[in-house]
Amino acid sequence: MGALELVAASPLGLVECLVGRTPLGEVLFVSVLCPPARIDGRANAGDAPLPQLGLYCHVPFCAPACDYCAFYQTQPRAGDFELFVENIGHELALNPPNSPAATFFWGGGTPGLLPPELLTSLGTLFLEANGWRKPVEWTVEMTPGTVRPERLAALRSLGVTRISVGVQSFDPDTLAALGRRHTQRQVFQAMEWLGEAGFPDISLDLIFAVPGQDEARWRMDLEQAVRFCPQHISTYCLTLEEDTALYIRLAAAGAGKGKKGNGLAASSEREAALYRTSWNFLEEQGYAQYEISNFSRPGHSCLHNRNTWRMGEWLGYGPAAASQLGFRRWRNPPDLVRWRRGIERAALEAERVDVVELTPESLLADALIFGLRMNEGVSPIALAERFGCVLPAALGALVHRLHEEGFLDDTAVSEQGDGFLRLTLEGRLRADAIAAAILCCFE
Ligand code: SF4
Repeated sequence: MGALELVAASPLGLVECLVGRTPLGEVLFVSVLCPPARIDGRANAGDAPLPQLGLYCHVPFCAPACDYCAFYQTQPRAGDFELFVENIGHELALNPPNSPAATFFWGGGTPGLLPPELLTSLGTLFLEANGWRKPVEWTVEMTPGTVRPERLAALRSLGVTRISVGVQSFDPDTLAALGRRHTQRQVFQAMEWLGEAGFPDISLDLIFAVPGQDEARWRMDLEQAVRFCPQHISTYCLTLEEDTALYIRLAAAGAGKGKKGNGLAASSEREAALYRTSWNFLEEQGYAQYEISNFSRPGHSCLHNRNTWRMGEWLGYGPAAASQLGFRRWRNPPDLVRWRRGIERAALEAERVDVVELTPESLLADALIFGLRMNEGVSPIALAERFGCVLPAALGALVHRLHEEGFLDDTAVSEQGDGFLRLTLEGRLRADAIAAAILCCFE
């Protein structure tokens, strides 16, 4: 192996990353000059106040799909991108935001597949619908293969503040197991261009508990991620959904016969070990955990997602996009053609799916469950006041039991505490079971 040549010193926010390349042109590693990390014990205290309304856009195109994907996405055909943007404009006119939005979030799918001029058109539609007010935070999800200087320039001039890159892994074998279509080399190139573009916030998504990915490989992914010094890192445990290519492949290989727990997915012990590895490592590296799967440098948590988890309000545009407004939650039809037809007939409301009429109690339950997933915790009394309802009698006993079992920290029961419930590390590992127990209190 030849000596490494220093080819780039890319500014990523306040830090610098140095990219190494062999004489053959292969990007091999990234060494880092990160400033000393400082963690606030309560994870991201000092963030800006939470927004009131978020606007989400689901860009449903992927080409082709990843093997584990269970999101609504479709392979684009000629003219689909233009028609999509045009119809988003109609949808924004049919169902405009009822108040100024503080955050925009474009997810998918792959928003980065749109060419620069259509990204500009889409962004202009959102800005116009928002009374030309720029949001406090504007996130666009991109896959490494779609990161290109021209697209980044278009997004930067619109006022996009945050790029979330779906890296998932740096390890070629793990990427192959996931059926991701990008290469390690594309990730390094994407990070170099992102550094040059100068967005205030870069976030990397990683996946663990992938078949064939042992602890050492996962740790290498984490180590490589922090070498890029992003402001934010999300780590997701792989969920095996039926009917995905990965599920079918594993089932056919005889890895098991059914859902999680039947041999297809990682055991809960292995998942817990990988969770612990991530949490310990990222904390050591200066990334405060602020939600079970999300870590950031102080002041860089995702405001849009925090608003969602706190049961704020958001409006979703595009096929399969979810909304929550007032006492109603719904989703647009997860089908590009149905979505378009609904808009053309000005009858999109009739095509909505998963429509749920909410009550103060159901909002309280959801705010408790999602609030507990955040390290800042949640105050049941403040939530009951906010939603104008009474806490269920069974909740008090549950809180005491969870504290005795070591899943809630001492502030949950201490008279000197602030009235917030916060999960301990062991509690976070059991967040789903605790959510189910909370729901039982509301029955
Ligand atoms: S890029 Fe995302 S949405 Fe598209 S196929 Fe892969 S996982 Fe699914």
